[in-house]
Amino acid sequence: MRTKVVATLGPASGNAETITKMVKNGVRILRLNFSHSDAESFRPLIAIIRKVEKDLSIPLTVMGDLCGPKIRVGVVEGAPHEIDAYNDVYLGLPEVAGDVTDLPFIPLDQPELLLGLKDGMEVSLSDGMLTFLVTETIEKDKLYKIRSQNAGILSSRKGITFPGKNIALPAFTEKDRVDLAGCIDIGVDAIAMSFVQTAKDVEDVQAEMQIRGTWLPIIAKIERQNAVDNIESILKVADGIMVARGDLGLECKLSTVPVIQKKLIRAARHAQKPVIVATQMMLSMVKNPIPTRAEANDVANAIMDGADCCMLSEETAIGNYPAEAVGYIKEIAEGTEPYYLERIEEPYKPSKEVNPIKYLSYSACLLADNIESPAILCHSNSGASARVICSRRPQQAIYCLTPDKSVPSYLNFFWGMIPVLTDSTIPNHRERLEAYLESSKTFSRGKGYILVSGQPTPGQTESKTNEIKLYYK
Ligand code: PGA
Ligand code: MN
Repeated sequence: MRTKVVATLGPASGNAETITKMVKNGVRILRLNFSHSDAESFRPLIAIIRKVEKDLSIPLTVMGDLCGPKIRVGVVEGAPHEIDAYNDVYLGLPEVAGDVTDLPFIPLDQPELLLGLKDGMEVSLSDGMLTFLVTETIEKDKLYKIRSQNAGILSSRKGITFPGKNIALPAFTEKDRVDLAGCIDIGVDAIAMSFVQTAKDVEDVQAEMQIRGTWLPIIAKIERQNAVDNIESILKVADGIMVARGDLGLECKLSTVPVIQKKLIRAARHAQKPVIVATQMMLSMVKNPIPTRAEANDVANAIMDGADCCMLSEETAIGNYPAEAVGYIKEIAEGTEPYYLERIEEPYKPSKEVNPIKYLSYSACLLADNIESPAILCHSNSGASARVICSRRPQQAIYCLTPDKSVPSYLNFFWGMIPVLTDSTIPNHRERLEAYLESSKTFSRGKGYILVSGQPTPGQTESKTNEIKLYYK
């Protein structure tokens, strides 16, 4: 299975038995959601994950997901209120709540959110279950009358979004700063960042990590229209992205999400960064033992779009069938990937540019195809050349040997990539690959394998990737 699975941990899955089952079915990344808990309460979970990792000898990645500026309304007096279609309510800063008492009042305590709100704009509550249009500006930037477009329940502390409106809030909040410190302290391997809008948001987290003397890969969650518009610059600085369809479907028109998904996946592969498709992939399996037809299709289509990872949220965090949900993804992936590869036909050809590593990687894939090699093995200190090979989408499994302990947990996000931590007792990188190939039973005799490494010119000590070797075992 080339597709990687990200499973969100929660009460339904935070134990060794379920984690083991999920990993056997393809989970390589375990997500800790900081919207619901803090670092200290996740500490015991990390110990469990490390034990499973050791028992199964499979590198696992723990991803701390920082919740960012998720916006919630305050306490609505008298809530819950039943709202019919075309009912009016007020939306405003808490300080003006006393000015209007004839209709329910929704308080918002961040003044930035109301800046620039105008008649006719949309306001969406409770994950889009209740939508409103602004019908009257009573006091600019402070108090508005809004009209419901459908019936629903108005409750306190629910999420609120302003579809398409620019929100001048940085993605990295004070709470995130505390959670990031906690993540580093408990030993997570990667960070996901919610509500990124610009490359600067990602750089803010990178700067904070640098102050703390560490580096962790950052997955930018694309869940705002701004982020979609800025994807090229975000991909330059982020280490991967997530198509965070939950909030994306609120911030952008739902009908635009499928095409956004395809475009984001393509952009990520071109940038040699991994992309996770997230939210509602198997949602009905929170309650049911089998997915719907639409869900099975959704997973298959994400794979055919070229996604590196599929993510499960409630399904594994609070669902009744966490391991089974992962099992279905595995089954669907195994059924879909041969078709995906058949359709690609040949490894992706690089565009015309001077880029020796890209062309060398592409050549390695072509050669592997031609001799029907079962695997491409590459040595990479940083993982960079393995990422380029991955972006060509070869038919073969990609084994990446690296001596750097922080690299396998990053490579876990990549399609078809099998990271292997190697020691550095053998100085020559090609010889490391050969020793691994010879000693591992995974690779059968009588077959040819493609080895990719960097061989320094005599007299020099280091080299970038510059060699392809055809090795017959
Ligand atoms: P969330 O992110 O589950 O943290 O909100 C994913 C999404 O919005 O799809
Ligand atoms: Mn989200």
